[in-house]
Amino acid sequence: MRLAVVEDDDGVGDALVEAFTARGHHADRMRRGADLLIAHRGYDAIVLDLGLPDADGLTVLRQLREVSAVPVVILTARSDERSIVRGLRGGADDYVVKPPRIVELLARIENVTRRAAAATTPSSRVVASGDVRVDLEARRVEVAGVEIPLTTKEFELVEALLERPGAAVSRQQLMDRIWGDAFVAVSRSLDVHMTGLRAKLDRPGLITTIRGYGYRWGE
Ligand code: CA
Repeated sequence: MRLAVVEDDDGVGDALVEAFTARGHHADRMRRGADLLIAHRGYDAIVLDLGLPDADGLTVLRQLREVSAVPVVILTARSDERSIVRGLRGGADDYVVKPPRIVELLARIENVTRRAAAATTPSSRVVASGDVRVDLEARRVEVAGVEIPLTTKEFELVEALLERPGAAVSRQQLMDRIWGDAFVAVSRSLDVHMTGLRAKLDRPGLITTIRGYGYRWGE
């Protein structure tokens, strides 16, 4: 597994990375919540300490959940029930109280990773909405039988919206996925590409704007 360990305490962080590596996993250590938010992609699971130098781990978790469903196991010195409940409600998949027992922690990580994999059902590779047909495999879009040439970014927008047709996708999710950054000013680029995409498709109502949130594929 590829794991990220977000932990500012060198003793705990180094020990975890060492233990994960010794068991054949790849583990990257991060010290700050901000480090995770800009580099959360590509991991099978995240181990997240709550007491971080730049932000409360629960805040980091909330921001992460705006853009990613990656399994998160909270590592906390706070054994009080309230912190744990807040963590689980905030989108954590599980928690382990410090000091962690490595075998238990790994078992919990494997468990949440397995659940996440089971929840991901492969979507159909061809999606048709009215006379718009999207072949995700071939990266082709046809409107009324005519192929519409899209730029890479425009196609990536379609792809992101089609991951869950009919479900709202936030601007942060789109920016994170397509530009790799949900938290810096690429907002304008998103508007430009969305405008271009809509003009090319020429099907008003196919992509619905959800004011103050984002977009949805379909009415
Ligand atoms: Ca800490």
